Amino acid sequence: MSQKPEVRTRIAPSPTGDPHIGTAYMLLFNYAFAKSQRGKVVLRIEDTDQARCTPESETAILKSLGWLGIQWDEGPDVGGPAGPYRQSERTDLYRSHCQILMDQGHAYRCFCTPEELAARRQERREQKQSTGYDGFCAELPSETVQANLDEAKPFVIRMRTPKSSECLLQDMLRGEIAIPWENVDDQVLLKSDGFPTYHLANVVDDHLMSITHIFRGEEWISSAPKHKLLYQYFGWQMPQLCHLPLLRNPDKSKLSKRKNPTSILYYRQAGFLPEALVNYLGLMGYTLPDEREMFTLQEMVETFDLKRIRLGGPIFDVQKLTWLNGRYIREKHSVDQLLARLTEWFLNDETWKKILPLIQPRAEKLTEILPRPAFFFADMVEYSPENLVPKSYKFQAETLPADLDQEPDPGLMTARLLRIVQWEMEKIRSWKAEALQQCFVNVAEKEGLKLRDVVKPFFLAISGSPTSTPLFESMAILGSDMTRRRIQHALDKLAETGHVISKKKEKALQEHYQKTYGPNI
Ligand code: GLU
Repeated sequence: MSQKPEVRTRIAPSPTGDPHIGTAYMLLFNYAFAKSQRGKVVLRIEDTDQARCTPESETAILKSLGWLGIQWDEGPDVGGPAGPYRQSERTDLYRSHCQILMDQGHAYRCFCTPEELAARRQERREQKQSTGYDGFCAELPSETVQANLDEAKPFVIRMRTPKSSECLLQDMLRGEIAIPWENVDDQVLLKSDGFPTYHLANVVDDHLMSITHIFRGEEWISSAPKHKLLYQYFGWQMPQLCHLPLLRNPDKSKLSKRKNPTSILYYRQAGFLPEALVNYLGLMGYTLPDEREMFTLQEMVETFDLKRIRLGGPIFDVQKLTWLNGRYIREKHSVDQLLARLTEWFLNDETWKKILPLIQPRAEKLTEILPRPAFFFADMVEYSPENLVPKSYKFQAETLPADLDQEPDPGLMTARLLRIVQWEMEKIRSWKAEALQQCFVNVAEKEGLKLRDVVKPFFLAISGSPTSTPLFESMAILGSDMTRRRIQHALDKLAETGHVISKKKEKALQEHYQKTYGPNI
């Protein structure tokens, strides 16, 4: 009698920024399904995009998912038999697999330069034709290929895709999905730097890691035909797919950090309990048989059934999460337990050892020690938005920045600075006081302002008080997630009092920013 293969699911985050709440959501469903089948969960880091991936982001992903208490069985931190679990350590595998496709005629070299591609795309756009790759290099005579190689012209490798009929996919929740092949591009598999694209690496790894089921976001449905074709070309069995609906903001748009915090670490710092967050994420797509709202991870695993997954776009509502979190605090903790949670959270010696050096030099009595750093342990801080705005901004000798055509309203000017700093902060790789100071010095210089004028609104935005602990050190201790959240909160408050950066102004500001500071991240 043949034995059913072990169920193996995986999550495959790309370490390109803050650990996203959507990653936690996917881990939860992959975990619940795998464990309900006595299977295993793999965590694989998809870090082949060298320009965007950082080790800091990988560390943050592992730390934040670890905090949630959903334990994967194999991964870069815990090891396992199918490693390495970091794609940057597996590049030889992708190249050798790409070679197999080349040898079998399923893939070809494409020598088109980005400029040529853009020009031809533009032409086709004008003729109202599809703007996918036009197959220019799909049938190059071998002499031309050889001549190009002899000239050492850079090339990528593309996969061949059918041009007619449709691809039929089976989704565990959605049933059959038909996607016309004409909508599917001859996807690049290997880039000119020899690194694979997501599609090749993802398929090769899912196969070599013996993944049997994939729960991932619905944004990947359009990639599935390419994956299916790759499985066919390699002669492998494709894992079963289950595309879950994306989390949404209360206004139904896709969850985005402009409207809701999306970093898992922010939720930790803002005082949410991991079990409440996991419970809430479970509610986002799943209902227990008795429809109760409070349940543990284990209870979700024990009752897990695909039939009870809902496909409607789940709304991630921080207010509801807060309500649920409150129930956990009140109903699931004795005072002693709550005290232990607070210590484990941030109220411990480690935090105080960071904060006290900022207070000690100015303190005269022990009673002064406690009130000032309260903002380190808060979620949002409160203040009147008009206090964010200095009376005027004094520009240095040179003219106003190009996006400002007149002496600007100080409220708008403040919003503008908050925005610029937000963008500049995205570029900070290592969140330390020196780097933050450098960020502000740079902005002051580029905007022709005194550093003093630039930092003023940030004092209030970060600490809720104009006379607080030193700004850069405070931001460093507070961490990037909470700092950014408070800056966004200040922008929201300014907008409420009429200092809105309109769409038109935002566009001009973007242009000014990119010209003066380089591209956004
Ligand atoms: N690396 C992809 C991501 O960042 C993985 C998508 C998938 O699950 O196939 O989400």
